[in-house]
Amino acid sequence: KERTLAMIKPDGVFGNYTDKIKEVILESGFSIITEMVVQLDEGNATVFYVEHSHRDFFPGLVKYMTSGPVYIMVLEKVNAISDWRALIGPTDARKARISHPSSIRAMCGLDSEMNCVHGSDSPQSAAREISFFFGEMPGG
Ligand code: ATP
Repeated sequence: KERTLAMIKPDGVFGNYTDKIKEVILESGFSIITEMVVQLDEGNATVFYVEHSHRDFFPGLVKYMTSGPVYIMVLEKVNAISDWRALIGPTDARKARISHPSSIRAMCGLDSEMNCVHGSDSPQSAAREISFFFGEMPGG
């Protein structure tokens, strides 16, 4: 089995989508290994998204990600990383509503920035993001 980091971003938490998203996660065969609520600050949001720090949308991204609490989960199943990415849908929620209408971003995202959820995109980023929030995990 494989583990990935899933995050409900501030717009998803504020929009009260946490329970609905967890329902979809469990119905889709993932186990939730651990979960917690975190308020990111400018420093740790910058480190989390450092790969985008040169992009023009970066200041807005940090502002968005620090605008309220995020809900962090470690998910486990066979192919967890790519299956969770498939379940959340394309980055731009407007496009998701057209091409992937049953995806999570189609359900609760707004646009290419406020897209409600995050998922690690590779085994390397999953390992980095899980230890970013949880340190070294038992069995992980
Ligand atoms: P995530 O990494 O959050 O799962 P992703 O891999 O689909 O999303 P990335 O390209 O890695 O998308 O971008 C990271 C985040 O930066 C996006 O989820 C979104 O919140 C924001 N973002 C991406 N592109 C844009 C853009 N063009 N304008 C504004 N914000 C953007």
